[in-house]
Amino acid sequence: MHDLETMYRELGISPQVLEFGKKAEDSLKERFEEIDRRAEYNQMKVLKAMQDNRVSDIHFAATTGYGYNDLGRDTLEAVYASAFHGESALVRPQLISGTHALCVALFGNLRPGDELLSPVGKPYDTLEEVIGIRDSVGSLKEYGVVYRQADLREDGSFDYEAIEKAINEKTRLVTIQRSKGYATRPTLSVERIGELIAFVKKIKPDVICMVDNCYGEFVETIEPTDVGADMIVGSLIKNPGGGLAPIGGYIVGRKDCVDRASYRLSAPGLGKEVGASLGLNQPLFQGLFLAPVVVAGALKGAIYAANLYENLGFSVFPGGSDPRYDIIQAITFGKPEGVIAFCQGIQAAAPVDSFVTPEPWDMPGYDAPVIMAAGAFVQGSSIELSADGPIKPPYSVYFQGGLTWYHAKLGILKSLQKMADAGLAKLE
Ligand SMILES: *Cc1c(COP(=O)(O)O)cnc(C)c1O
Repeated sequence: MHDLETMYRELGISPQVLEFGKKAEDSLKERFEEIDRRAEYNQMKVLKAMQDNRVSDIHFAATTGYGYNDLGRDTLEAVYASAFHGESALVRPQLISGTHALCVALFGNLRPGDELLSPVGKPYDTLEEVIGIRDSVGSLKEYGVVYRQADLREDGSFDYEAIEKAINEKTRLVTIQRSKGYATRPTLSVERIGELIAFVKKIKPDVICMVDNCYGEFVETIEPTDVGADMIVGSLIKNPGGGLAPIGGYIVGRKDCVDRASYRLSAPGLGKEVGASLGLNQPLFQGLFLAPVVVAGALKGAIYAANLYENLGFSVFPGGSDPRYDIIQAITFGKPEGVIAFCQGIQAAAPVDSFVTPEPWDMPGYDAPVIMAAGAFVQGSSIELSADGPIKPPYSVYFQGGLTWYHAKLGILKSLQKMADAGLAKLE
């Protein structure tokens, strides 16, 4: 093992930083064991779904053109439906991203005059233009779908009174975002999502409850489909793609809901029957197979970072010993230099583009310069180790991912090294 310290030194980690990290890691044995137990359960869940659906070598064959009778695609969708306990699934490389999958699910299931309700506050940024909260061409609003919102209460609890008031005969679909995304509210546990769905369905049993499941898959041993969600939606370049999916999104749930989404993705009358998989079935199967373990590594990284930076006196969200319901970690540095040093450390630890130094830049659509660290195999993949932060108060950085725990660990140590070298963190 003496070689390991040498190896870390060759990667630019000083013995002091390594020792500081070790203290945090040593205190986390029990939490890591708990994460491993969940990963084991979820691994068995995925394996069983693959065996039950008799996944075979022939399912990895590529189809082209219309993609009629794509056995691999149909089996992949059956596996997703089994693993996430839904009646049906749409899992496609033609779903470009999480935003696109959510857009297809919403447009497929809403009609002019319907109302859409978010009972958990403002949805993820990119959905504002899909819904028309921010004016945009082609939004649901342009098609006559009305959006309502009930905010969470100050303490993060559901505002049941406001939710009840917002539900009426026109309410067709309720959208619930599991992860906090880049907001400061807590992420919802699956159990809490279940309570919310039960409340909504008691008032209006025929309302469709959709959960934006991004960043939440395999963090717990149950998914929102286990507690009454009619549809769950997510991105394959986050958790369920296991780092191997080069593109894609999924919608799993009630058959009629998934079918309606499929008529929007392809065309009315065509639905799920078309869409060539172009040789991507194999990495999509294999990515799902690896996903439980990859998510466990990302979770360990998030908890390790929270504890390490908490020990240094920074404010972290969620806190070092808080329960986890997604893989995102926020750390507040209070000054721009902290955000920059952190992101540069994450970048320097990457397997790809480690030699690049990220700098803040004026990204379109943002009101402050943003710095981003990503040395990913798949562009924009945030199950891979990545970090970003806007250069504005309170100077927080959001970071997530890591295809392996060891890589996440190196990234965090490297960030700490940059902070220490710049005199921004004191290791006593
Ligand atoms: C990432 C994310 C999305 C959008 O996914 P993209 O793949 O980036 O389009 C939507 N909702 C939540 C909560 C997310 O984290």
